[in-house]
Amino acid sequence: MLNIDLHCHSNVSDGVLPPAEVVARAAANGVHALALTDHDDVAGISAAQMAANEAGLTLIPGVEISVSWGGQTVHIVGLRINPQHSELAAGLHAIRLGRIERARRMGDDLARAGIAGAYEGAYDFAVNKEMVGRTHFARWLVAHGHAPDMRSAFRRFLTHGNPGYVEHEWTTLENAIGWIRASGGMAVIAHPGRYAFNARELHLLLDAFRALGGEGIEVITGSHHPSEYGKFADLARAFGLKASRGADFHAPGEGIDIGRLPALPHYCQPVWQGWPELEPHFSHSMA
Ligand code: AMP
Ligand code: MN
Ligand code: MN
Ligand code: MN
Repeated sequence: MLNIDLHCHSNVSDGVLPPAEVVARAAANGVHALALTDHDDVAGISAAQMAANEAGLTLIPGVEISVSWGGQTVHIVGLRINPQHSELAAGLHAIRLGRIERARRMGDDLARAGIAGAYEGAYDFAVNKEMVGRTHFARWLVAHGHAPDMRSAFRRFLTHGNPGYVEHEWTTLENAIGWIRASGGMAVIAHPGRYAFNARELHLLLDAFRALGGEGIEVITGSHHPSEYGKFADLARAFGLKASRGADFHAPGEGIDIGRLPALPHYCQPVWQGWPELEPHFSHSMA
């Protein structure tokens, strides 16, 4: 059985490890193929690729794009993208510019709630100054004693109805899928269990996603409780979507580690079916 993990973050977005260390950690955990899927940026892929060559691991170039759909933020993972593709690169750059303006508003909102210096503080935590997000704010809030841990930082702040939460318009579902496909990649709905959609809305999302050329959905992810795996495996099958698996690793000690997830249910069609870059691993394990 190959260990394939198709969702994780480096410090190019809101993870804490540099891309090469993410890859080394994956290799140490027995992962055969890893997709680096930083939020709205592909700047870590070349370093990850070099580390993967050294470790004998297959690196799948990826990205996790922030989208607004149905009044909520939805994340679309792109797998096997071409990070050099100009349309994709330009689209991601525009999203990062929006993040900078959003971070300023988040800082202003926290200041109004009596917490000063969060904007500057979050920037200190962001290694990539173009990719600042709520996680960087949360790390700063914890470091400065405003919350005991990341979970509570998000529960008390940064989430709907709390200080530090601001509305933001991300890109469209159509753009995200379009850029991914234009660059040669496959679009996958990230952690469907995390969205506050009712069943009807979720079905509408899956229909719209498919109609726009989306092909996969995460079934096994660190964001899903094991009791949800079956539900999303069934949805994948009902909507003709392939199934993906990824820890959504951000930092050691935070959530599930890279590759440390159950296998996909046997009746799922994996997103990686037929990927030629995985063949060396199959012939290896059969030898
Ligand atoms: P942003 O894209 O800036 O809105 O930040 C979203 C990121 O925040 C996600 O990718 C997660 O890494 C993190 N996040 C969101 N909600 C939580 C939570 N409840 N606990 C911990 N991390 C969270
Ligand atoms: Mn994240
Ligand atoms: Mn996500
Ligand atoms: Mn993620």
